[in-house]
Amino acid sequence: MARTGRAMKAARILIIGGGIGGLTSAIALCRDGHDVTVIERDPTWSVYGVGIIQQSNVLRAAQQLGILDGYLAAGVGFDAVEIYIPSGQRVARVPGHPVAPGLPANLGIGRPALHKLLGDTAIAAGAKVRLGVTVTTLHDDGAGVDVVLSDGAALRVDLVIGADGVYSQTRQLVLPQAEKPEFTGQAVWRYNFPRPADLDALHVYNGPTGVGLVPISADLMYMYVTTPEPDNPRYPTAGLAAVLRAKLAGTAPQIKALAEQITDDAGVVYRPLEGMLVRGPWHSGRVVLLGDAVHATTPHLGQGAGMAVEDSIVLAEELARADTPEAAFAAYRDRRFERCRYIVEKSLEICHGQIGKGPPVDNARATAEMFAVVSQPI
Ligand SMILES: Cc1cc2nc3c(=O)[nH]c(=O)nc-3n(C[C@H](O)[C@H](O)[C@H](O)COP(=O)(O)OP(=O)(O)OC[C@H]3O[C@@H](n4cnc5c(N)ncnc54)[C@H](O)[C@@H]3O)c2cc1C
Repeated sequence: MARTGRAMKAARILIIGGGIGGLTSAIALCRDGHDVTVIERDPTWSVYGVGIIQQSNVLRAAQQLGILDGYLAAGVGFDAVEIYIPSGQRVARVPGHPVAPGLPANLGIGRPALHKLLGDTAIAAGAKVRLGVTVTTLHDDGAGVDVVLSDGAALRVDLVIGADGVYSQTRQLVLPQAEKPEFTGQAVWRYNFPRPADLDALHVYNGPTGVGLVPISADLMYMYVTTPEPDNPRYPTAGLAAVLRAKLAGTAPQIKALAEQITDDAGVVYRPLEGMLVRGPWHSGRVVLLGDAVHATTPHLGQGAGMAVEDSIVLAEELARADTPEAAFAAYRDRRFERCRYIVEKSLEICHGQIGKGPPVDNARATAEMFAVVSQPI
């Protein structure tokens, strides 16, 4: 690995996981002149078809990564959150808080559109992407890491980044004692619909079954539905649409009307919600973790992917200024821990309040507080 002054330059870096955190890291690190390989376990490198909310701190991060225009073109910006009660009546329209001039407060974007943007940008920046492979062994000898991949290929790299999500195999390999994901007792269901022309905000329906409508393009929105699922059931795909329609039976009239359009079992995305925060170090030697691999949050504040994107920028910045990988990794974790802890713990508090495992949390106040936290510089 060549060095100029104190900073690390042109390191060979292996990123495990081609999701949001892995790809934003690849973009940041390629632009800093590193030689980046991304390996992704999924041979089809696909993501499910519903959407995601990115708030303005994520758009600020996208601006820093040089991909803001792509983000804005691939999604739909919106500034307000409308709150509805189970009767269907709107009780508030809460303005959002853009963290920088010219940015919308929020952006709804389809996961496939975001994945394409990040994948295309990472490859154009020079990242080599290998699909359908994972790691078999990692051996860190202090001067570098010898990696054997599942297809038998052997690599020697300077650094490894584990961006392989909540069930991170890299975490298991290098931090086997670290915290594990825990099921919360709640699950989320998602489904796409045509977007009504007047849907210009995130619509949140409070009640025992929480519902949200999120615009993600000119003609598409998705619905998310949170339900208590204390026994963590496994629902077969066949029949999922009917189960979701039944879950919506007691909701507001406009939601029940939409529920009639839920007919495609394969279009329903069901996900038990889990949380996890690694409270100790986020690295071991030359191997570091980011994103859901170290701080998987429930989606109640819509910030999980945002934290992964911010991690990527901070990790690249610390690698650019530190003398050793370990110093960079420790500085990166120090800068990121408090914000990620706040997002994971606050989201879990909201989740527990919704299912009676804790006191109810005022969502509007929690969202305003979260905006104040994430608008601080990273
Ligand atoms: C229901 C739900 C709704 C959400 N909504 C939002 C939202 O609105 N806004 C928001 O900001 N966040 C949201 N999130 C959180 C967000 O999806 C995650 O925080 C984000 O995807 C984390 O990115 P990541 O790159 O760390 O992990 P992932 O996105 O999980 O990516 C990990 C990648 O690594 C690959 N991989 C896994 N294991 C291996 C291996 N051993 N070898 C090679 N590759 C491997 C996987 O195939 C995957 O491509 C939501 C999460 C859930 C569950």
